[in-house]
Amino acid sequence: EGQATAAVVVKALHEVADLLHGKEEELGRLDAIAGDGDHGRGMTRGSAAAVAAADEAVAQGVGPAAVLVAAGDAWAAKAGGTSGVLWGAALRSFGDLLPDHRAAMANDLAAGASAALAAVQRLGRAELGDKTLVDALVPFVEELRAAVEAGATGTEAWQQAAKAATKAAESTAELRPRTGRARPLAERSVGTPDPGATSLALALNRIGTVLAG
Ligand code: ADP
Ligand code: MG
Ligand code: MG
Repeated sequence: EGQATAAVVVKALHEVADLLHGKEEELGRLDAIAGDGDHGRGMTRGSAAAVAAADEAVAQGVGPAAVLVAAGDAWAAKAGGTSGVLWGAALRSFGDLLPDHRAAMANDLAAGASAALAAVQRLGRAELGDKTLVDALVPFVEELRAAVEAGATGTEAWQQAAKAATKAAESTAELRPRTGRARPLAERSVGTPDPGATSLALALNRIGTVLAG
């Protein structure tokens, strides 16, 4: 239970891509309030490319780590935009931390998520409170690590952490963007959650559902 095999990783990517495709307009509208309106389009393009690369990788019989690395590279190459670069690097870094010859367990998921956050912060240099996807990713990783340390299964820990990410994404509505394209129109974005934090929380919750089987 809560083990991430290559098949589970592929299923999660498919479900995230379907989810983001369905939310494309909504995410675009959120991004149009203070940004350039392309967040839904970028996430749909990136996740579709990730799915295609993952399907190809798994057909060659590779494990969960190689599937995620291939998916991340495709996402970064095809999505366009800041979020595409960050999502691609996050998936690749997550994959780099997973074992490739066995299913990933709870502590592997926590290590992968921490590596993903480190990659996002190294590339984007956003801090907590800058109104970016970092504001959802930091509480996700903290909650995931704490739950795993407390003995939760990978699935339980992930679902608990995804809930924390949802709350944190909603709370970004109060913030003013301090980086990214939304910064010049920062005031306009107050009252609306950050698009990247919102899509991240949606994706993390869906992955939790896939892990639950
Ligand atoms: P772009 O801003 O290039 O058009 P998107 O619209 O796809 O790209 O993504 C916008 C989202 O990217 C923002 O809502 C925010 O969450 C995230 N973002 C922007 N800059 C950064 C950064 N430096 N670090 C982390 N996330 C960022
Ligand atoms: Mg945008
Ligand atoms: Mg853009």
